[in-house]
Amino acid sequence: MPGVSGRITAPSARASLQSPWAFAFMAWRAEMIDLHTHSLFSDGALIPSELVRRFEALGYTAVAITDHADSSNLDHIVPRLVHVANDLNQCQSVKVIPGVELTHVPPSLIGSLVEKARALGAKLVVIHGETIVEPVAPGTNRAGLDASADIIAHPGLISQEEVQLAAKKGIFLEISGRKGHCFGNGHVARLAKEAGARLILDSDGHAPGDFMNKEFARKVVEGAGLASGALEDLLSNSRLLLKQIGFPV
Ligand SMILES: [Zn+2]
Ligand SMILES: [Zn+2]
Repeated sequence: MPGVSGRITAPSARASLQSPWAFAFMAWRAEMIDLHTHSLFSDGALIPSELVRRFEALGYTAVAITDHADSSNLDHIVPRLVHVANDLNQCQSVKVIPGVELTHVPPSLIGSLVEKARALGAKLVVIHGETIVEPVAPGTNRAGLDASADIIAHPGLISQEEVQLAAKKGIFLEISGRKGHCFGNGHVARLAKEAGARLILDSDGHAPGDFMNKEFARKVVEGAGLASGALEDLLSNSRLLLKQIGFPV
């Protein structure tokens, strides 16, 4: 996964808070948000506490843990993520949002699983969209939109009609920092811009090397064909979504 070369190193974090250098560093790293990550409750490498601590050390203000789920494991994952998020939110500066990513769920089952995820306490429901690098069932993007999920992740070659529906319903479409899934970014960005749909940037990180610093995030956004500076717009969208789900930052 990208991002390894861009990881923030410890010496920077040790800079004195009084020095101008440190102010510049804080401004550079501030305000990052990631609403799509994986812990070892699915195929991520880290236990939630380490995942969150690493995002905190990178200067993030909020991170959602959104492990892969279907009807086999939803009731296993969600209550545990709710529990750890409640604990960590008592004592850490980065806000932790318990979520889930419904993954390769047949489109006809997505609506009921979105409801079940929310009933179990998931504050953010991501749909594993129709990335071009996996045989995700056609109709998955549409089912996620119909079910009013929060984010359609890596929606691949999503149709214009679906992007218009996302715009109408205020559902966020993802620009992905993940290898492979990012192949559809340019298409998603272009249609979202035309339709006025909201874009959001996530790492879909599974391991520390996947977590993006601001410099790398900016490159992913520009690589999607968006204007330089669009990262700030995408981060504003992340903040908007956080506000909607009760985690203002
Ligand atoms: Zn995964
Ligand atoms: Zn994912």
